Amino acid sequence: MTVSRVEFGDVLSMTEDELASVMGTRGASRFRGRQLFEGLWRLGIQNYQELTVWPLALREEMTQAYPFQRLRQVHEETSPDGTVKFLLALKDGQRVETVVLPHRYGYSVCVSSQVGCAMGCKFCASGLKGRVRQLTAGEMADQVMYADQWLKQKGQRVSRVDVMGIGEPLDNFEAVVRFLELIHHPRGLHLSYRHMTVSTSGIVPNIRRLADQGLPVTLAVSLHAPNDALRSRLMPVNRAYPLHQLMGAARYFAERTGRRVTYEYLLLKDVNDRDQHAEELARLLRGQLAHVNLIPWNPVAEHPFQPSPSGRVQRFQRIVQQAGISCTIRKELGQEIEAACGQLRLREEERVSP
Ligand code: SAH
Ligand code: SF4
Repeated sequence: MTVSRVEFGDVLSMTEDELASVMGTRGASRFRGRQLFEGLWRLGIQNYQELTVWPLALREEMTQAYPFQRLRQVHEETSPDGTVKFLLALKDGQRVETVVLPHRYGYSVCVSSQVGCAMGCKFCASGLKGRVRQLTAGEMADQVMYADQWLKQKGQRVSRVDVMGIGEPLDNFEAVVRFLELIHHPRGLHLSYRHMTVSTSGIVPNIRRLADQGLPVTLAVSLHAPNDALRSRLMPVNRAYPLHQLMGAARYFAERTGRRVTYEYLLLKDVNDRDQHAEELARLLRGQLAHVNLIPWNPVAEHPFQPSPSGRVQRFQRIVQQAGISCTIRKELGQEIEAACGQLRLREEERVSP
C-alpha cells in the first residue's frame, strides 16, 4: 500500500515503519519506533516524558528534535440523547469539530478532514467561509484518539469512524488514506476498515482512486438531489462531475470493494422532498448495490431552507422502499447541540470575532 509523504517531523502522521526509520537515522534501535507508535496510538502519550520505557536522554532528544502537540479541547457540549460534540484546537490555533455518537452497537466518532470546506454546498455550515487548510493524517487520527480516551473513562471505546465532519475528505485524499491506515494499525487503535465510512460530495476521480486503494471502507455519497439541474443548484461540485459520472464512480467503488454504497439524501422542504424526487431517486439507483440514508436537515441560519416535516420524510422513505431500495431515516442525533457539520465551529468563531 502506498501512503503519501508527511510533513517533515510530524510524528503524529507517521506510520510505524517511518518512525522506525527516524529512530534508525538517529542511531537508536528501530524498535524504538515501534514503542513510539504504540505510545502515540495505544497509550495516548501527551509528550515524550510519558514514554517511560525510553531512557531519559532519548526522551529529551526527541522532545527537541520532533516536538508534537496533541489536540486540545476548547469546548464540549452534550445533547440529551448522549451525543457529545467537541471543539478541538490544532497546534496553530485553528479549530475543528469531532462528534461522538451513541448507538445500539457502541459509539461512532465523526471526524473532520479539513478546516472549513471549499465545496460550497448551499445547505451546509462548513463551507460558508471556504477552506482554511487541510488537516494532516495525524490531526485526523488524534480526533479518534481523543474520542477514544474520553470514552475510556466510561469503560467504552470507539467502534466506528465516519469521516463526515467538517471538510471534504476526497479533497484531502493522501492525508485521509494515510489516516485510515494509521487508525487501522493493530498496534494502535486497531479499527477495522469495515467500520470506517468516508463521505463525499462527489469528487469523481478520487472516488475511483479510493476504490483502487483496496481498503474495504464504506463509501457514502452525499447525493441530495436525483437530477443534475437540482443537484447543481445545491452542490456546485455537480457542475464539474455530473450524476452519470458520479454514478459510474460509485458503481466502480462497489465492484472493486464488494461494499454497498450509501447515498445520503438530506430533505429540504419543497426543494427535493416531493414524490417525484423520490421516484426519480429510485430510478437513478435501480439495480445498484445501494442504501439510501435520509437525513433531516439541521437548520443553518445563513441558508434559506426549511427541514421537511417528518410526515414528508416518511412518505419519501416509503416510495424509495417500494421501489425495492433499502432506505433508512437517520436519527436526528444531537440537534440540540448543533451537531450538523461546521455549525459549532462557526458559532464559536463568531463569538470570538463578531
Ligand atoms: N464533505 C463530505 C463530508 C462532510 S458533510 C460530504 O459532503 O459528504 C457530511 C454530511 O452532512 C453530508 O452528507 C452533508 O451533506 C451533510 N450536511 C451538511 N450540512 C448539513 C445540515 N445542515 N444538516 C444535515 N446534514 C448536513
Ligand atoms: Fe463541504 Fe460536505 Fe459541507 Fe458540502 S456538505 S460544503 S462538501 S462539508
